[in-house]
Amino acid sequence: MDNLCPHCGWPDAEPYQVISRRLTRDSTQLSWVRCACGSLQMRQQPRGGEVSVLTRGRPTSDMSNLGNGHSELPSH
Ligand SMILES: [Zn+2]
Repeated sequence: MDNLCPHCGWPDAEPYQVISRRLTRDSTQLSWVRCACGSLQMRQQPRGGEVSVLTRGRPTSDMSNLGNGHSELPSH
C-alpha cells in the first residue's frame, strides 16, 4: 500500500494518528485513522490480508479555511 493522502500527501502506510481499532467477528480489523491534515479514514484489514481504505473524509474545516478570505465579512 503506497497511496498518499489526496489532501496533504501524507503516506497512507504511516498512520498519523490511530483513533480506534476493533476486530469484527470474522477477524477483520477495522480502524479509524486521522491524517495530518485532519481527514478521517476508515481502514479494513482482513486477518493476514492487505489494508484497504474504505472511506476517507475531508480535512478539518479549520485547516481548509486558513488563508481563504470570508466573502461575507464586511470589507469596509
Ligand atoms: Zn491528509
